Amino acid sequence: MTKVLCVLYPDPVDGYPPKYARDTVPELSSYPDGSTLPSPKAIDFKPGELLGSVSGALGLTKFLKNRNVEFVVTSDKEGPDSQFEKELPDADVVISQPFWPAYLTAERFAKAKKLKLAITAGIGSDHVDLNAANEHNVTVAEVTYCNSISVAEHAVMQVLALVRNYLPSHDWARKGGWNIADCVSRAYDLEGMTVGVVGAGRIGKAVLERLKPFGVKLAYTQRHQLPADYEKSLGATYYPDVKELAKVVDIAVLETPLYAATRHMFNASVIASMKRGSYIVNNGRGELVDRDAIVDALNSGQLAGYAGDVWYPQPAPEDHPWRTMPHEGMTPHISGTTLSAQARYAAGTREILEDFLDDEPIRDEYIIAQGGALAGTGAKSYEVTKGQASPGSGEKA
Ligand code: NAD
Repeated sequence: MTKVLCVLYPDPVDGYPPKYARDTVPELSSYPDGSTLPSPKAIDFKPGELLGSVSGALGLTKFLKNRNVEFVVTSDKEGPDSQFEKELPDADVVISQPFWPAYLTAERFAKAKKLKLAITAGIGSDHVDLNAANEHNVTVAEVTYCNSISVAEHAVMQVLALVRNYLPSHDWARKGGWNIADCVSRAYDLEGMTVGVVGAGRIGKAVLERLKPFGVKLAYTQRHQLPADYEKSLGATYYPDVKELAKVVDIAVLETPLYAATRHMFNASVIASMKRGSYIVNNGRGELVDRDAIVDALNSGQLAGYAGDVWYPQPAPEDHPWRTMPHEGMTPHISGTTLSAQARYAAGTREILEDFLDDEPIRDEYIIAQGGALAGTGAKSYEVTKGQASPGSGEKA
């Protein structure tokens, strides 16, 4: 019997929602570049339901029962006594979400003798040691594009929240104050500022497109320069090197995958090279920046603000310094798991499982690693070095 082990975040503290704020989520016809939305043969959930927590089970319970698959869903993922660790040795498939990652370390791969497929219900498979996945010939797949726009919207919100000093001003309103001067003594207009996007992929391009109407100067860096006509339509300037980009921007928005070349891309010396009072928004991965360099730069005033939703490890410990540093606009890892996004990645996860169970090929764009090597989207997004754990995969967590 095939066994699918699924690690999801816990239900809301007040229980699984009996009803929702809205009755529907908009139906999309394709992704912005025209590529196809997830297309499973059927779904057993209503788009707009909470699917990413344990009771939602990604809407997979009925489907897997009908396919005679053992389906274990848990949020208990940490440590040797966790349910995840106990169920892993005979699991054929592991499903995990970046928001509540079941870190798949080399040690865990060694224990998971039957494992054939690791699905990321979302985007970003850095919580999987991709080198170990290749050594054990485990396929790694994710639902490419499912929440890229969700994250871009979050990034735009955080850029505005930091520059306009929104969160502290909101606090004054909640506290019963009318402290205009307190609110505005750190508030600026975004108009005229230079925003630099690091990683102009699906998320990064959507951030550039959404910020253009604000009358900002746009800059970006990534592996390959964007096509000239698209770049011109944005009015964006390309910097081949992140260090050169960092020197000219007022706001850096980080949206690259995490791997050895991007780990600690924004370290103390890059941050010191930025204009005093710059902002950083990071929804890529926590380890794209040096944790303590961010705290120091906020304390010294070199950075005017830092916001993001990605931490390391996840969930972040209660005493993580980003919870208490000044001028932050952090959220838990939520940008890619709106109810709208959940409907897409639940459908995409089902599509991957249908293909796996029917012995059909999984869409190339969903593939991160296959047949002992990076492949599909993974070959464009990550690099692995033999014998080295992928950053973020939990080896140090
Ligand atoms: P994508 O593959 O479309 O874009 C990634 C871009 O980064 C590519 O354009 C690539 O050229 C660029 N890049 C890679 N290495 C680089 C480097 N060294 N320097 C500069 N640019 C580099 O992927 P995407 O859908 O835009 O997602 C990007 C990342 O965002 C994911 O890998 C994941 O880590 C993160 N993400 C976070 C959330 C969230 O909820 N916070 C959700 C989805 C994705």
